[in-house]
Amino acid sequence: MSLDKPSKPEDEFFAAEEVEAKRKLAFQQGERLAAQQREALKQQHWMKCPKCGLDLHALDEGQVHLDTCFNCHGVWMDAAELKKRKSEAAHQNRRTPLIDSIINLFKRD
Ligand SMILES: [Zn+2]
Repeated sequence: MSLDKPSKPEDEFFAAEEVEAKRKLAFQQGERLAAQQREALKQQHWMKCPKCGLDLHALDEGQVHLDTCFNCHGVWMDAAELKKRKSEAAHQNRRTPLIDSIINLFKRD
């Protein structure tokens, strides 16, 4: 079907549907490209130190999994690891104000 100006209402309907289908396809292509770019970034940066770029090494401290950089001495963990740490402390009746404040950073309203 051509995108020339349609002459009948029926042609206008099909032209509008074709334009909508092309918009939808372009949107889907954009979404796929964004997903591919996110995956490429993940592959490039996975287990690399965000401060110095060298390899991170996984270390376990109790139940908590820490990603550690032996170059710049950075230690990284995600919210799930923080919650495990908080849970361990709670079993020992210890307060964890620093961990609580970090977990609160990621809470949504
Ligand atoms: Zn580092």
